[in-house]
Amino acid sequence: MTAADNYLMPIAPRPDVVFVRGEGAWLYDSKGRRYLDWVQGWAVNCLGHAPAAVAQALAIQAQTLINPSPAFYNQQALDLAEMLVRNSCFDHVFFASSGAEANEGAIKLARRWGQLHRQGAHEIVTFVDGFHGRTLATMSASGKPGWDTLFAPQVPGFPKAMLNDIDSVAKLIGPATVAVMLEPVQGEAGVRLASPKFVRGLRRLCDDHGLLLVFDEVQTGCGRTGTLFAYEQLGVEPDIMTLGKGIGGGVPLSALLAKRAASCFAHGDQGGTYCGNPLVCAAGLAVMRTLTEEGFLDQCRTNAATLAAALRDVSAEFGLGEVRGMGMLLALELGADTAAAVVTEARQRGLLLNAPRPHCLRFMPALNTTAAEIRQGIALLRQSLAGRDSVI
Ligand SMILES: *Cc1c(COP(=O)(O)O)cnc(C)c1O
Repeated sequence: MTAADNYLMPIAPRPDVVFVRGEGAWLYDSKGRRYLDWVQGWAVNCLGHAPAAVAQALAIQAQTLINPSPAFYNQQALDLAEMLVRNSCFDHVFFASSGAEANEGAIKLARRWGQLHRQGAHEIVTFVDGFHGRTLATMSASGKPGWDTLFAPQVPGFPKAMLNDIDSVAKLIGPATVAVMLEPVQGEAGVRLASPKFVRGLRRLCDDHGLLLVFDEVQTGCGRTGTLFAYEQLGVEPDIMTLGKGIGGGVPLSALLAKRAASCFAHGDQGGTYCGNPLVCAAGLAVMRTLTEEGFLDQCRTNAATLAAALRDVSAEFGLGEVRGMGMLLALELGADTAAAVVTEARQRGLLLNAPRPHCLRFMPALNTTAAEIRQGIALLRQSLAGRDSVI
């Protein structure tokens, strides 16, 4: 299954494994081997693999109505939008299919708002090491090293500040500025947390200058950080928020949410053939109903604390670095560029891990993973770290 003997574009190095089935925390390959999955489709499968609630919702909806077109209402989109509004500080929702597409929508909404309310201001302050997606505009908004030249020229209008450095943001604000956009936790950068103090400072700065505060909660939203949305733990309300990943429980669904004052699209400004189709919205409803069940997020927070404590023990035992994160979005610093080797070793032992940076591992289990699965994963992680040491 190397790049030479299949027909997929070689966009990433992939291990010689073909996955055929998933169930909860577990993935099974074509040879019948099973793996405890702490990648979960890149924090996408918030309820694990093939969760019954999502599978049933999809099966029923697939036999009822898949896509009447975004030019017509459908009940699932109406219900999901209502559920998101009732459980957040926002008033209006636009559905899309990927995180990047939701962020494109947020960028357009901010620019539209700038045309209407700030004499055409259009610049959006974003952050070094930030990640917002892989379309041209969202790549330009991202601060990933090398992306400024990868598909040059970039889309202009995204000056970069430093996370947790309020002066670096203030310095970039001028007459052309319309918004500040950030991830509450920079996931792809290695789980770097925006401090509550910094975020409150951003809110104040935006209020003082009449700017929009935009949160990209594609990774942090939908329970990943222990609350439904990360902003709830930071003591601020953004004007605009995007969701992706977890909201669909594995199927392509994302959302752009805005407060009434920022919700300024006119007819024809925004759209998309698949936007808000009832098939994916039925999955989103199943996810949101599960996440908002009494006790679900309490249990998730308890298990996340167990995982974080176990990772700290592992770090102490092996002389590794910091454990950081929120809820079920955690990282372990390794202190050296050994992450790729640990990921390979772990996979061979039946544990799937992700290394967002050469020196750190990221953990994003299903939100409903059990304490027993966490123990199994930690045992496999210990073996992987020890096994790698014994090889050297
Ligand atoms: C994954 C991610 C995106 C991009 O989402 P896609 O569905 O891959 O387009 C955007 N922002 C953040 C914070 C992400 O983690």
